[in-house]
Amino acid sequence: MMERLDHFMGRAIAAYYAREATPFGRAGDFTTAPEISQAFGEVLGLWAAIAWDQMGGPDPVLLVECGPGRGTLMADALRAVGEVAAPFRQAAQVHLVETSPSLRAAQQRMLGDAVAGWHDDLSTVPDGPMLLLANEFLDALPIRQFIRRGECWLERYVAEGAFVERVAQTPPPLPPTAPEGAVQEVGEVAQGWIAALARRLATQGGAALMLDYGPAASAFGESLQAVRGQATGLDPLVDPGSTDLTAHVDFAALARVAQGQGAAVGGPLPQGLFLQRLGLMSRAATLAQARPRLAGEILSGAERLVAAEGMGRLFKALAVCEPALPTLPGFEPA
Ligand code: SAH
Repeated sequence: MMERLDHFMGRAIAAYYAREATPFGRAGDFTTAPEISQAFGEVLGLWAAIAWDQMGGPDPVLLVECGPGRGTLMADALRAVGEVAAPFRQAAQVHLVETSPSLRAAQQRMLGDAVAGWHDDLSTVPDGPMLLLANEFLDALPIRQFIRRGECWLERYVAEGAFVERVAQTPPPLPPTAPEGAVQEVGEVAQGWIAALARRLATQGGAALMLDYGPAASAFGESLQAVRGQATGLDPLVDPGSTDLTAHVDFAALARVAQGQGAAVGGPLPQGLFLQRLGLMSRAATLAQARPRLAGEILSGAERLVAAEGMGRLFKALAVCEPALPTLPGFEPA
């Protein structure tokens, strides 16, 4: 069987997240920001509450998360807004977009009655103004890879556990400046996702915040990688479904697509700068003061999210919103 890379990835990723074992945390395969610090979900919840205010406080409003993992981010966000933005909490109807049955069950355990509904994709989320959060969701969407060979672009396929290159059937426009052998990754699924999201925000109102890892400017090069047991750089073709497959997010391409649909865009900004502007470090300091025995762990977790040598620089924050909104919190020009 020969399969295009994105089709292979789509199947492998779905199988991976459908496993019973949770992939998150120290005992799992990788650790994400909400699992590192509760302040992360808290400040993202407050970000949504401020954006809701900027929208004029529509009631009801949809509060949507894509790829919620264990539900930790949403739990932290709801707790924080319940304490300091009660009108937003009361107006918010929580919808989760999640394809994995086992993670849906984990989210149900974490969030219980707070969730109004689960969806396979955005198309079934009810109409209306919306605030959307997505952390490490876009990097889990499949990509296509094109390789420049002489005067043509070949596309990467998977056959019998090995990569093969074939003439691309439906190549997107590819940059003529690519040197021989250059790899161009195209996140077609992510681009389709953000196009639909941007159209919806432009017509029905709302704002979305995506955090993920990838360069600020589009670049050639291969970023597909397989991750398991905190080890990176494993062979993505060995035992599909047993490792997490991810690729860098091309934020510049996503921003262009969103603008093309009539939405406004903020960022991409380095995650560290964005979280600092939202007050992540002072929130962590307050938490540390309240629990002195855990202070070291709380502060070093928050530090890891903002530090350039941690997740502060490689990770980016990108916002998409209806064009009428003022600058969203954290995205003020420097
Ligand atoms: N946001 C969480 C989890 C990130 S892992 C955190 O930060 O900890 C990626 C998440 O996206 C998982 O919940 C996974 O099941 C989900 N996911 C992957 N592909 C998806 C798809 N095509 N549609 C919806 N959810 C998807």
